[in-house]
Amino acid sequence: MIQTDSRYRDLGELPSKFRYYDFKRILSRPFTIDDMLTLSTGISLKSVSYLSRLLEVTTNIDPLDLIDQDFIYVLGWHRVYSFPKAPTTVTWTCNNTFYEDRRGNQLDNKLIARMSDTYRKRRGIKLEQCGSKRIYIAHQAKVKTTLIGDNVELPEGLAFPTIRTLVELDDTDDYDHLGDLIPLIRWIKGGVTMQDKFDIAKGAGGADLISKARMMQDKFHFGLRETAPIECLNCGHKAVIDREVEVFNVLPNNSEKSILTMLDNVMQSNNTLVPYNTSSKAFLFLHSSLVKRHKEAEQRALIRKNKGNRK
Ligand SMILES: [Zn+2]
Repeated sequence: MIQTDSRYRDLGELPSKFRYYDFKRILSRPFTIDDMLTLSTGISLKSVSYLSRLLEVTTNIDPLDLIDQDFIYVLGWHRVYSFPKAPTTVTWTCNNTFYEDRRGNQLDNKLIARMSDTYRKRRGIKLEQCGSKRIYIAHQAKVKTTLIGDNVELPEGLAFPTIRTLVELDDTDDYDHLGDLIPLIRWIKGGVTMQDKFDIAKGAGGADLISKARMMQDKFHFGLRETAPIECLNCGHKAVIDREVEVFNVLPNNSEKSILTMLDNVMQSNNTLVPYNTSSKAFLFLHSSLVKRHKEAEQRALIRKNKGNRK
């Protein structure tokens, strides 16, 4: 069926270069409004299961087989194909410091440089920390994909962790007592479930595998990395976010409520029904042009009003 559905596209190369799979290509289709709602639940609940199910219905493969980096990559494909303007969501705390007078006015650094310490003290000018914490949606993020190196070899008995164990961990607290060991147990090659891997870890040679996994954990840097310009809304400080793209920050989180409100606005203004299987990108584009039209109309009304007042 997928073969005859023109919405499916070939994803191209994966960060792992398909080295660990039976399949050698992935076909994927963009999200619908329905998928956006699933995405929203997945991100708000921090549930990999939801995200995995989302990829199950939008690709031709079983996402549980994917290693973490490839899973993030397949999700990341949707930034471009399921959202207008390839957005990225960033939670950021501003670390800017600046001088403030008693009234809370921010003072220019050049001005401060000309003042003596005693003068500043006398005038009650203090060095303040911004500390503003907000969620931003940046649109000009640059994403870089690094492919796995040709010489990457893992020690005997280890394999790159797959989404299967993450999804399993989503639904249980059976392993919580293992704490920091959980991510290391995910590296054990044998068995299918976390329980299988845990059993291997408990057996002969298990401790050795765990210590090797610990060494491998931060050794490989393939997958997605992004840089995005950002500006503090509180103090105007500009910075650049440079980070590894992760499961829960790879796609923007529109809340269920905001999706339904947008849907309602689009339907009311166009006086038409928008089905849930409409492409998310088309729907978001429709909504943003609606907002734009509203703003323009408001501005025209304001100009008319001002003209009227002058007469
Ligand atoms: Zn700030």
